[in-house]
Amino acid sequence: MEKFIIKSYTIKPSKIYKLAISLIFMERIEKMKVGILGATGMVGQKYISLLEGHPWFKVTYVAASQNSAGKTYQEAVKGRWHMTGEIPRGIENLIVENANDVSRSLENCEFVFSALEMKKEETAKLEEEYAKQNIPVVSNTSAHRWTNDVPMLIPEINPKHIDIIPFQKKNRNFDKGFIVVKPNCSIQSFMTPIYALMKEGYNIQEIDIVTQQALSGAGHPGVSSLDILDNRIPYISGEEEKTEREPLKILGEISNGTIINREGLEIYSQCNRDNVTDGHTACVKLKFSGNNPSLENIIDIWKNFKALPQELELPFAPKHPIIYREELDRPQPKLDRDSEDGMAVSVGRLRIAKDKILFIGLSHNTIRGAAGGGILNAELLYTQGYFKF
Ligand code: NAP
Repeated sequence: MEKFIIKSYTIKPSKIYKLAISLIFMERIEKMKVGILGATGMVGQKYISLLEGHPWFKVTYVAASQNSAGKTYQEAVKGRWHMTGEIPRGIENLIVENANDVSRSLENCEFVFSALEMKKEETAKLEEEYAKQNIPVVSNTSAHRWTNDVPMLIPEINPKHIDIIPFQKKNRNFDKGFIVVKPNCSIQSFMTPIYALMKEGYNIQEIDIVTQQALSGAGHPGVSSLDILDNRIPYISGEEEKTEREPLKILGEISNGTIINREGLEIYSQCNRDNVTDGHTACVKLKFSGNNPSLENIIDIWKNFKALPQELELPFAPKHPIIYREELDRPQPKLDRDSEDGMAVSVGRLRIAKDKILFIGLSHNTIRGAAGGGILNAELLYTQGYFKF
């Protein structure tokens, strides 16, 4: 006679949660069709290369200026493809559309990443037009960063700000469309380590930041080689204002259908363009109100920091959003910008000087600070049901 052995298994609640998430995603076997506005530029190209093989999104629509419209993608970027490796298969023969003609996108994609470099007012109007036509916009541009019903997201810090989207839709008569933005590329190199300390109850009253920003942050061709070789330029137009203001919105709260900036926090910045291809560095001084945390405590907080993208295991979420480097000469752009595929912030040089805590942060400006950050925003929106129409 055959014997049957019945085993009992205990399943952890976290496993059940992950299983439920997988089942939700299995529901949608087809990947979402995604468009890129500004697909031929520095950030647009990064989107194209990072989205190759993405589990949920597939690039089906590329758009740029009138100069590129009508060409195949391959022709449009001929002589100016700046990514390592070839143009991903399937993209090279897509016809580049004129991004200003929204109607061309309607049948061809379900949402767009915006990486346009146009006048701010024109970009703002165009992004609104896409949203009006039921195409959600996940933007890298600065056009809507200060619009108070548009969330400016770093998903590890303020994922709750997506709760403003229903108010935005109502205010602007958007039906399925909406606009979400990410902050300026420099912000990611220091904001998450600072937020991690605030989250643990430490009150920071003053932040002093000096940035050393990479050349790719200026798009292509950017700063001329004769100006930057053997040099550093102590000016990037508009950058200091962005660095001082954007964190206040990110740390703000939603109240009565608007995002209210954080008060009682002073931020000062000086921004330099450096002779480095990729990777923005921020030298930061923090002044706490009340007692300073100990250095051991700060390191512990940074090493253990995890947030919603890590809990949800979003495809672009770094496992360790903050990487603490003990070596005295780290973080360095060349060695640390690609940590966690360019999505982590590396921090080091932590010390106390008089009444301040000092550290240096570094993140990849075209990955975490641009296309990778935009993809993480889209993944958050996807899991929270904002792309379910
Ligand atoms: P870029 O290399 O100069 O690329 C600009 C893109 O915009 C190109 O695809 C260009 O198309 C398109 N474009 C220009 N004028 C247009 C028009 N009138 N109508 C439609 N499309 C137009 O710039 P980028 O560095 O990729 O930056 C793109 C955006 O991302 C900017 O808003 C920038 O502030 C932001 N950003 C950049 C970084 C970074 O690290 N580089 C980081 C964060 C955010 P053509 O090729 O046809 O001219």
